[in-house]
Amino acid sequence: MSIDGLFKTGLILSLLLIVNPAEARDNSGPALREEAVSQPQTASENQPAAPPRLAVLIIIDQFRHDFLQRFDDLFVEDGFRRFMDRGAWLQDARFSHVHASTSPGHSVVTSGTYAHKTGMVNNWWYDRDRGVFQPSLVDPESHVLGKEPTENGRASTRQLEGSSLADELRLATRNRGKAISISLKDYSAMITAGKLGDPYWFEASLGRITSSSYFMDDLPDWVKRFNARKLPDQSFGRKWERLFPEELYLERAGEDIREGEEDNRDSGITFPHVTKGGLEAPGPRYWNAFKHTPWSTDYQLEFARQAIIEEGLGQDDIPDVLIICLSANDYIGHDFGPYSQETMDATLRTDRQLADFFAFLDERVGRDHTLLALTADHGVMDLPEQLKLDGLEAGRAGPEPLTALVEEALDGLHGEDDWVEHLAESGLYLNYDAIDSRALSRDEVEQTAAEAIVAHPAVWRAYTRHRIERRQLPESDLTQAVYHSFHSRNSGDVMLVSKPFYLLLGEYGSATVGTSHGWPHEYDLHVPIMFHGPWIAAGHYRHRVDTADITPTICNLLQITLPSGRDGRILGEIIR
Ligand SMILES: [Zn+2]
Repeated sequence: MSIDGLFKTGLILSLLLIVNPAEARDNSGPALREEAVSQPQTASENQPAAPPRLAVLIIIDQFRHDFLQRFDDLFVEDGFRRFMDRGAWLQDARFSHVHASTSPGHSVVTSGTYAHKTGMVNNWWYDRDRGVFQPSLVDPESHVLGKEPTENGRASTRQLEGSSLADELRLATRNRGKAISISLKDYSAMITAGKLGDPYWFEASLGRITSSSYFMDDLPDWVKRFNARKLPDQSFGRKWERLFPEELYLERAGEDIREGEEDNRDSGITFPHVTKGGLEAPGPRYWNAFKHTPWSTDYQLEFARQAIIEEGLGQDDIPDVLIICLSANDYIGHDFGPYSQETMDATLRTDRQLADFFAFLDERVGRDHTLLALTADHGVMDLPEQLKLDGLEAGRAGPEPLTALVEEALDGLHGEDDWVEHLAESGLYLNYDAIDSRALSRDEVEQTAAEAIVAHPAVWRAYTRHRIERRQLPESDLTQAVYHSFHSRNSGDVMLVSKPFYLLLGEYGSATVGTSHGWPHEYDLHVPIMFHGPWIAAGHYRHRVDTADITPTICNLLQITLPSGRDGRILGEIIR
């Protein structure tokens, strides 16, 4: 609706209310009935009359739900509290999938669709046709702007099946609405931009913001000007100290030194952290280390401000979407864990950084026009070494002992061969040549492999492809998660689930320090969902909701079409 239209509707209603308020509320006058049909959201119902001009979706990487409750009294007035006190705070929100990782997490949030339809089974999976273990978003046809094309690098969302929030916004507005995404990670920026949005990310090898040739031929001038400011270099050697006295951190987190912490980038494992990446002057090793500091969040939010100004986001009635994926929280969490002083301090700083950003949004776009949503792509497990000290059974497991169990079982039954083609978090991929050359049943070989691998103490469950594809698993939350995460082409022939409090496979299964996420346990799945804006019925909601519900809800409020495969629903209960 135009401003003129709004004004006229309001004027007609005000006149009717003055003449006969009771009649007006009863909808009894023919003129008003007609008005009410054509303009159901009227001022008399105390509802916002126009859809949001700008939807800002903030996805904090590795941000568990309990961070909001553990530190709530330490937050400032208008950061997270804007949502917690004056927005809708959905406290029982979780992902219903197995692989609680960054690629599937962002994909579910911004498409409302699980990997069974999008193909985003994990951050990496094994490609049978090419015979390589490849990252999500690999595309030899596209290249990162400012870098040479590569055979096995992330470069586009060509492989992402179906549409997302950014795509639907572009389609519904006939390309008049803008959809921009920002991250420190190439993959979260690209996934959340869908195919038709504009993704931007901090490329550590270049020390600046870039994008991909799939989305644009060249960076806009304003991005080049932003890069010329060389903001990351200003934090070279900057000291990261605690915001509050250490006593508070000892209470809410614990000792600064914890068993299993990772000195990832020569910044040390205790406060103060001084980040130089082991260099004398800024270079790629420093720019990588920069991502592990709270200063990179300031950098991302400054880029977001420039995007809003330069692209004119939220300045007219055609809705725009801005998706901000705050990545530093994830890098810091991997190094130090969820109960570290560093994660606590990063959380408190994120709160203050968001408060500043919201103040900018209020001034630039206005609260009446801005829909805010906040969530995370996954949670995280504590450091296994620390969990053991706390008295829980915990551990790490890499691929070798698991592969050995399967090889031994199949060698014994069917003769010596290389039965396992690949083993990763996305599953166990069997060697089909070995199976077919002996005319064996794939189903039976899968079953033998599953029974062998589940004997390992770090493996909790193992599901075979044939049972998953024929929907033969007993009904449960876990089964739903398995079905959601299984994609015929990208997944393996046996899907594994880690035992609770075990880091299984991936970079951290084989490591000796640091922690991770990626499995369907509460600490990895339970994240916040919060909304704020005049369209939202404020309150604390405690019924179960799904992270796939976020994008359908945003689409509904923007009055645009929903993504092609969406599994989630519109959260009607939080809409005024
Ligand atoms: Zn992540």
